[in-house]
Amino acid sequence: MGLSTSEQAAITSGSDFWHTEGVESAGLPSVTVTDGPHGVRMQASGEDMLAGVPATCFPPAVASASTWDPELLRRMGAALGDECRAQDVAVLLGPGVNLKRSPLGGRNFEYFSEDPILTGLLATEWVRGLQSRGVGASLKHFAVNSQETDRMRISADLDERTLREMYLRAFHKVVTRAQPWTVMCAYNKVNGVYASEHHWLLTEVLRGEWGFEGLVVSDWGAVVDRVAAIAAGLDLTMPGPDAAGDQALVDAVAAGRLDPALLEQSAELVRKLVAKAGDRPAGSYDADAHHALAREIAGRAIVLLKNDGDLLPLDGTQRIAVLGEFARTPRYQGGGSSQITPTRLDNALAEITSSASRTTFAPGYTVQGEADEALLTEAVAVARAADVAIVFVGSVHETEGADRESIDLPAPQLALIERVAAVNPNTIVVLSNGAVIATKPWDERVPALVEGWLLGQAGGSAIADVLFGRVNPSGRLAETIPVKLADHPSYLDFPGEHGHVRYGEGLHVGYRGFDARGQEVAYPFGFGLSYTTFGYGAAHASATAAGVEVRVPVTNTGGRDGREVVQVYVSRPGSKVQRAPRELKAFASAEIGAGDTTEVRLTVEREDLAYWDTRLGRWIVEDGEYLIEVGSSSRDVRAAVTVHVAGDPARVPLTSESSVGEWMADPRGAEVLGAAFASAAGQSEGLMASMTANPEMLMMLGSLPLSRMAAFPGSPLNAGDLEKLVEAAN
Ligand code: BGC
Repeated sequence: MGLSTSEQAAITSGSDFWHTEGVESAGLPSVTVTDGPHGVRMQASGEDMLAGVPATCFPPAVASASTWDPELLRRMGAALGDECRAQDVAVLLGPGVNLKRSPLGGRNFEYFSEDPILTGLLATEWVRGLQSRGVGASLKHFAVNSQETDRMRISADLDERTLREMYLRAFHKVVTRAQPWTVMCAYNKVNGVYASEHHWLLTEVLRGEWGFEGLVVSDWGAVVDRVAAIAAGLDLTMPGPDAAGDQALVDAVAAGRLDPALLEQSAELVRKLVAKAGDRPAGSYDADAHHALAREIAGRAIVLLKNDGDLLPLDGTQRIAVLGEFARTPRYQGGGSSQITPTRLDNALAEITSSASRTTFAPGYTVQGEADEALLTEAVAVARAADVAIVFVGSVHETEGADRESIDLPAPQLALIERVAAVNPNTIVVLSNGAVIATKPWDERVPALVEGWLLGQAGGSAIADVLFGRVNPSGRLAETIPVKLADHPSYLDFPGEHGHVRYGEGLHVGYRGFDARGQEVAYPFGFGLSYTTFGYGAAHASATAAGVEVRVPVTNTGGRDGREVVQVYVSRPGSKVQRAPRELKAFASAEIGAGDTTEVRLTVEREDLAYWDTRLGRWIVEDGEYLIEVGSSSRDVRAAVTVHVAGDPARVPLTSESSVGEWMADPRGAEVLGAAFASAAGQSEGLMASMTANPEMLMMLGSLPLSRMAAFPGSPLNAGDLEKLVEAAN
């Protein structure tokens, strides 16, 4: 590229908060990057970082994920791309694909799910949509950034299987399928090493194993040591400028402490990014059309959790009491870097009022969510005089930078629900929240419950669409709602202490953990009701080289057109490794007319059947029978079928440290060891005979490493022969 070392160093850090550094003499312009992810947060001129130029506030990921519809996410990505083009933004800082490990995670509203495959497939389409418009994505936060507490220093400590199968899986999917222009490293450490300096993560895995071709950008302020970061594979440090860091790079190259080729490569990746962004004409977008899209996605994101006696949908003729300040002052996004200044803002109260003939309203609690006895008394009176009461409640503060302390509703809101339900049997609760809210036991006292998440700027109209049946709900939970926080698999190990958080539940994140312990939940992963009903026929599954093809006929057995989210869960009964009882591997959102039947076809990718074998250091598809469960949620299996999948060769080489049991379980090992025993003196034959004849003996000796057996007095094995045995066996 012809840049000097100091120019290379300079362009590997930003020129300010939101721009890359250009080099005029080399004809290299600077480009804009901005947040992300559910809108374009272009900082308006001035010091206030959170004051943005108006842009469409689409539903945050907590909501868009509940659509379980990658196609919808692709459309959202494309619309965001158009808005970026209108603002001349080169890179939009999203999507966030960290797993929701704990319901207390302060940024859960910005993340998709507790499941890596759902996360990965949705985010892939979001990235494809965005990048189809010539705007780059920034897949974040790589990696294992599942909490806010001590987020800039904490070490997420976890084993390699959990890391790869759970926390890296969504990143892998998006990188290999959509090649995001950039990946953003996380603030935290992973097993003791800052993500920004993690050579294994940034270079060996991301580039080496996955073939990532783009640029790695730091999270804002994540870089501690520029030289270590470049050496590890981080290319662009944000924000900038960072004159001291630039100089440190120049010095390190001069002193031979940093390979100049690494700095040159990072600078070249910055140049390539700028060139990509330069290739496109400016754009514009239609704010009304984007508002309509935001409303469509929000409508598809709402999850109907309970609807006893078909109280919903409403027909608009009843006397409706709308209660709760959030109906008028909507909670529609979380705080922090993703905060958008919306182009407009719908509120549910106005939308309900225009959909119904007789509506009354009382706020019930203050905007800050505080108790107020007069407001409460007024609300109860309004509820008593109506045919139906709709109570809006939700979380009050959710923001980047802080985890939540509780998953319970604030006391004034609980009081509102209790008191309204006591006077009006037709009480509907609508929740606004970015992360799980406990619904037990109060949901037992209300006939209808609508999970309205944080729905973006069109959430108010989308809620009215669902309440009045203009949209038949099809949203599904992308995270389990537990009965209580203490039931959650992450409970005992969140958020850690003294700089470390232990991912003690391992692979059993979210529903995997609840299922593994057979624990009751309030509403399971994948759950959501509709105003119609669906029946499933028999499922068929066939193994192919690419994975498993699944077919299942689904019938809309009710009286309304609707959408069913068909979910495929897979298990490997009798697996040789620990696995969750059931893991989501494929899903499809199918629109089915009333009375119609559709054959839904889904593909379980072969790579998604694999587990990470820590002995072999690679992915292995185990040979054998796989149980394919097709259902309407993780706890509502409607059809099941077994399919044989041919496994990958997975022989673990035998060593002198392999146990007798491992030798005997291996056909060649058993032959070699058997022969060694047989050729030893009569005593060894006796030992062999007693080993095979006596199961307890076999169990006891089975765990003995060969080297240890050889050391026993009178052993049929001789330490000097071990090397030959190992050679013969492998
Ligand atoms: C957040 C990122 C964000 C960046 C830029 C950081 O604090 O963790 O998600 O993209 O700031 O605003």
